[in-house]
Amino acid sequence: MGGLPEPATPPIAKVAGRTCAGCGCSIAWDVTACPHCGRDCRFVSHQITRSVRMGTGMKVLLFLASFFIPILGLIAGAYLYAYRKEDDYKRVGKICILISLVALALLLVCSLFWAGSPIDWSGDGNQAIRL
Ligand SMILES: [Zn+2]
Repeated sequence: MGGLPEPATPPIAKVAGRTCAGCGCSIAWDVTACPHCGRDCRFVSHQITRSVRMGTGMKVLLFLASFFIPILGLIAGAYLYAYRKEDDYKRVGKICILISLVALALLLVCSLFWAGSPIDWSGDGNQAIRL
């Protein structure tokens, strides 16, 4: 491998400090309040919630599935919306449900269109179908 020596500081040192949102002073990552200005600095895992975003490919797949298999989209969307804490997943779930509903509406319109189509279903063809 490369001849570069390992850095003396362990990787944890990079996240050991953070900046106070109130006064901009660097503070330890585990303090609950800033020692400089007293601002509530409890560690809110912005980075963690941001990292659990759904991949774009997964989203596209879900949206496509919602459109072509509306029932699946409704179930997946409801699951994502109800059981996932992450905003991104909730948003995807909501969109899945919307797409499913649109697809179902389209299906309904299509079936109505077919039912009202000029094709004479009560003709001789109906006999063949009934058999
Ligand atoms: Zn501060």
